[in-house]
Amino acid sequence: MNLTPIREEICRLGQSLFARGYTHGTSGNISVLLDDGRMLVTPTNASLGDLDPADLAVLDSDGRAVGGLAPTKELPLHSALYRTRGAARAIVHLHSTHSVAASMLPDLDPADIFPPMTPYYLMKVGRTALLPYFRPGDPRIAEAINDLQGRYSSILLANHGPVVSGITLADAGSAIEELEQTAKLYLLVGHRQLRWLDDDEALYLRKQ
Ligand SMILES: [Zn+2]
Repeated sequence: MNLTPIREEICRLGQSLFARGYTHGTSGNISVLLDDGRMLVTPTNASLGDLDPADLAVLDSDGRAVGGLAPTKELPLHSALYRTRGAARAIVHLHSTHSVAASMLPDLDPADIFPPMTPYYLMKVGRTALLPYFRPGDPRIAEAINDLQGRYSSILLANHGPVVSGITLADAGSAIEELEQTAKLYLLVGHRQLRWLDDDEALYLRKQ
């Protein structure tokens, strides 16, 4: 299997997200699950803005590192979401500012953080679950993702950042951008009394 195109696609997405301020420093990581069970994932301590396709970590289907640099320390997030989201083939995790800010608001519904504000959030993301705060590297993050039983492609880790899966890398990338912009919108409007889309329209849009 020629991995060059997918390696390059991961680096292009990372560069694009970094250049537009969706992530910063060495935060954020991207993975793709290949049809043969191997995983390509961004390395630890790497800037998404400056990835080298040859450096991406390659893991075999048992999760052993078999090529490239050492994988991100946040690999358990990715593994847990792939285990529970059967159709997912790509995952993007960011420490994007507005999503992190929204995750710290009081009174969020952990089963569905954002109200139905816009059609594209409902169509591209659907619902976002909120998980409690865990220290980086805490194995309980993976357990909490397992406990969601694959019901969510979009998960926000409190005081940390979003994790979004997709059928393709492009899907996961556009969904996490939609989530970040939704968080920004939510912070802009605050908790004022607004007109949300009604339940019928939300139900229709989530099926699109
Ligand atoms: Zn993180």
